[in-house]
Amino acid sequence: MYRGRFAPSPTGALHFGSLVAALCSWLDARAHGGQWLVRIEDVDEPRCRPHWADEILRTLARLGLEWDGPVLRQNARKEAYREALERLKGAGLAYPCACTRREAAGGRYPGRCRAGLPPGAAARSWRFLVDGGRVGFHDRWHGWYEQDVASEAGDFILLRADGCFSYQLAVVVDDAWQQVTHVVRGADLLESTPRQILLGQALGYERPAYLHHPVATAADGRKLSKQNRAPALDPAQDAENVRAALAFLGLDAPQGEPPRELLAWAVSAWGARWRAAASLKGGQPAAPFSSSPGPNDCRAR
Ligand SMILES: [Zn+2]
Repeated sequence: MYRGRFAPSPTGALHFGSLVAALCSWLDARAHGGQWLVRIEDVDEPRCRPHWADEILRTLARLGLEWDGPVLRQNARKEAYREALERLKGAGLAYPCACTRREAAGGRYPGRCRAGLPPGAAARSWRFLVDGGRVGFHDRWHGWYEQDVASEAGDFILLRADGCFSYQLAVVVDDAWQQVTHVVRGADLLESTPRQILLGQALGYERPAYLHHPVATAADGRKLSKQNRAPALDPAQDAENVRAALAFLGLDAPQGEPPRELLAWAVSAWGARWRAAASLKGGQPAAPFSSSPGPNDCRAR
């Protein structure tokens, strides 16, 4: 059974970039006859606001992106994350880190506390011990992707100094608990995936299939996000926005249809393109379309 999910953070309203993510995961689930779950990723409590979660759910419902089962909220899952952390500690795969943000700055943690805390130092956070080299996986859009997690990411945070569990840990624990079989999300998370695969292996979870779709960018080339104030979706433009998001994903939808009709059309079009790609290449397609949309096709409207 296919189980997909959309996992927004409630740090702002749904914008064109997050509509693409919601739509892509919904389409892929529905075209495969699967379930589609919604999870509110409010693990980063200082940045999240409950009213944004309600707003996001209202927008999904208004657009006709209906989800299955109850919405999972990460702020109700702390015990599960704590239990996973304890298991990693027990397996010798987590260690305390005394470094401040400044000392651990930069892309990759140099491993200062790997062999034990410096004398007199107190634990501020907990890190995952990255052991071994490269992690590779087949991405359904991009094809083969691999990363040397030790040199590119290093030992990453599981429990932050402010007491919040890390995004990486929460996602892996929740995807396994919700029995997600297919993770469909933006390509900005491609480089997080090898860390999540390592964590999942360490916790004995089954690895889901991954698809990382291109992310929508603003005119200046940056990813559309709440942080750079991407505009909220205008309810008066629902059909236009759904049509534009479909076009972004390579589906040229008919004009003049309301959102729900567009969605029904898109489910069958998405399924047909995957079947065509699979029959052309034999087995799992690397990407459903001959060309991915480039940044110039990706502007928010
Ligand atoms: Zn440290």
